[in-house]
Amino acid sequence: MRAIILLGAPGAGKGTLADGIKAASRFQHVATGDMLRAALKQGTPVGREAEAFMKRGELVPDEVIFKLVEARIGAGDDGFMFDGFPRTLAQAERLDALLAAHGGKVDHVFLLDAKRALLLSRLTGRRVCRACGAVYHVVNIPPRRAGVCDACGGELYQRADDQEATIANRLDVYERQTAPLIAYYERQGVLTRVDAARERRESVAAIVAAAADRGR
Ligand code: ADP
Ligand code: ZN
Repeated sequence: MRAIILLGAPGAGKGTLADGIKAASRFQHVATGDMLRAALKQGTPVGREAEAFMKRGELVPDEVIFKLVEARIGAGDDGFMFDGFPRTLAQAERLDALLAAHGGKVDHVFLLDAKRALLLSRLTGRRVCRACGAVYHVVNIPPRRAGVCDACGGELYQRADDQEATIANRLDVYERQTAPLIAYYERQGVLTRVDAARERRESVAAIVAAAADRGR
């Protein structure tokens, strides 16, 4: 089982890159944030448990996240791209164990490096399709028609946690709880840095090419 991870602060562009990588490879996209928002919309127990944490920009408890991920990793599948997961050391260790149980490991971790100013402008301008989850930006990636998804015609909206007050907390949470994963994966020799300010098309091509190599 192959596995790559997109690591980076909120706003670094994990979701947009993931869309491009998905189109150019056979990786199955596992985005815990998207899964949580879907659970919330459906009003499942997981969704209800996650809601308050997400609104505040805090992390949802590891156990909740792990239940979601474990249910998603089928035995028959081969090749996962994790986006927004893992976000804590405990999650990273559990993922290593889960992959090992399926005869796999983390092959590559792509760290999207970005300055805080870039993250802020991306997050405040971000709009998401309510129907298909496609991601836009009012300035950088505008839809052809304002407020309407190019892909499916769905309505674009601003996520509740993309309000400025919550954004600052999410960036702090990233520094405190998720940034330690950089050293964790550096030690494993699987970390590659990607400049988040780079042209999206170039980054997608570079990641797809690097991921085609099985890693060490
Ligand atoms: P972003 O990377 O822009 O913050 P996500 O969609 O990945 O957006 O995550 C949105 C929210 O969902 C997070 O702020 C957090 O509350 C929750 N979340 C998503 N993934 C995880 C995870 N792996 N562990 C804990 N909480 C998570
Ligand atoms: Zn759409």
